[in-house]
Formats: sequence, C-alpha cells, structure tokens
Amino acid sequence: MKPIKFHLLKAGHCAHPECVAMRGGRWASLRFPALCGVIEHPQRGVILFDTGYSSHFFDATQPFPERAYRWVTPPTLAPGESLVAQLARRGIAADAVRHVIISHYHGDHVAGLKDFPAARFWSTRADFDALRRRTRLGNLFHGCLPALLPADFMTRLDFADQAKRMALPREFHPFDSGFDLLGDASVAGVPLPGHSDGQMGLAFCRADGRHVFLVADACWTREALDQHRLPTWIASRLFDSQRDYATTFSRLRQLAAGTTEVAIVPSHCEQTWEDWQ
Ligand SMILES: [Zn+2]
Repeated sequence: MKPIKFHLLKAGHCAHPECVAMRGGRWASLRFPALCGVIEHPQRGVILFDTGYSSHFFDATQPFPERAYRWVTPPTLAPGESLVAQLARRGIAADAVRHVIISHYHGDHVAGLKDFPAARFWSTRADFDALRRRTRLGNLFHGCLPALLPADFMTRLDFADQAKRMALPREFHPFDSGFDLLGDASVAGVPLPGHSDGQMGLAFCRADGRHVFLVADACWTREALDQHRLPTWIASRLFDSQRDYATTFSRLRQLAAGTTEVAIVPSHCEQTWEDWQ
C-alpha cells in the first residue's frame, strides 16, 4: 500500500448510557466522540472518512418527528468544532476536499457533507439503496436523515462496490481484500456489514509505516471488542443485521488478537481518541 498522511479529528460527540451500548455496562452515560479521518494524499488532495456532527444536524432534527433523534442520542458540538471549521484552522479550505468516503448514512457520520461543495462521495450501493427505499419514518428509525445530503448528492456519488478489488497487506488478516477507491492502492474500502447492510471501513498505511483500520460502528469501543461485549438487544434493534454484526465483530476480534501492527479505530471510542492525541 502507498503510505499516506493521516489525521484523526473529532467533530462533536453524543451521550449514551453504557448499559445500552455494551452488555454488562453501567447506567452511567458514556461519551461517544464522532471521529473523522483526514487523509492528505500527495496526488488526490484531501480525502475525508465521515464528517461527524455539524450545524446541519441541528437543522435536520429541528422538525418532528426527526427531533426524536436528539433525544435518543443527545449531541454536543462546541463552537468551531465542526470538521469544516477545524480543517480551515489547519489551512485546508472546504473546496480542497476532493473525496468524502461515507462509512454509512447515520446522521452522526454524514452531517457535514453539505460543507464540502467540491467533494465526490463514495458509499456502498446497498446503503444508498436502503436510504432511498425507506419512508421518512423508516429512515429516522434507522438513524438516517436524508435532509443531510446535498441537493446534488446523486450526481457526485460513486459506488465503492464498483471499484476494482485490491488485496490487503497480511497485517489486516482476516480482512484480505477491499475496494481500491482511488485506483492507486492507497486506501481500501472494506465491507463491515451488520450495523448497516453496506457499512464500509477504510484500511491504509500511514506515512510512518503504521497500518490503520477505521472501522466506523462495527464496534463502538475498543473495550467492547477486547472484552467481547456485544451491544445490548435494544441497541441491536437499530442494526440492519444482528447476525452480520456478530460475524464482523468476531472478525475484528480475530484481527485484534492476531496483531498489534494495525491501529483499529472505532468511530465512537473515547479511549481511542484520548490515546490518539
Ligand atoms: Zn455512529
């Protein structure tokens, strides 16, 4: 894999009782950061993996029934904490972002899409088709807010599953292949079905040689993965397939047990975020 420059950023967070997110958890509220990946590619410019929360999330959840989304997972976004604002402080203009890779369409992952007018989008066909097929209430029940998509979204969307398959380095075993999204074997979209039908993670090699696997919501915390604690029945109701979730989860456990050479990054793991900084 071609090494690339990578940063992990946090665009807001939400709160959730631990006992819902993880079997055997406490009643105490857990902080769920909304983590996003920023890749600086020498030829392809700036590439994002998810966008976290943004002001658009609050607009989209203003009306009923979408407002219920805020009650179930109360979000916090500090001033200047949106991804577009953080990138601007790093000298990266919104229109310098050329690609946004969407792990899945839940509101806390796509709320910033409208902030990047020059980006092309990548997602799996399965997740996009599901979003289009569902009713307004069906989407809300699945954590999706179609109002977060830019008006010209369809003309800027590419399906990851149509990209050529590429082999992953042995470090990622048992994940052996992915979608060669940029056509240069620098980043691989890796199917992680279950949380959503077509959820996609991202595997790549950082400039310092470290392998990184952004696994979105395939597990919510490293602790849950290491201690083999699946989400509770109530949280699993939101998943597209509990069986696929369990299979993906156990493959991730196999990866974690077999190597320390891959940094596994769940989108909402506070410990991962603290360690990363
Ligand atoms: Zn999420």
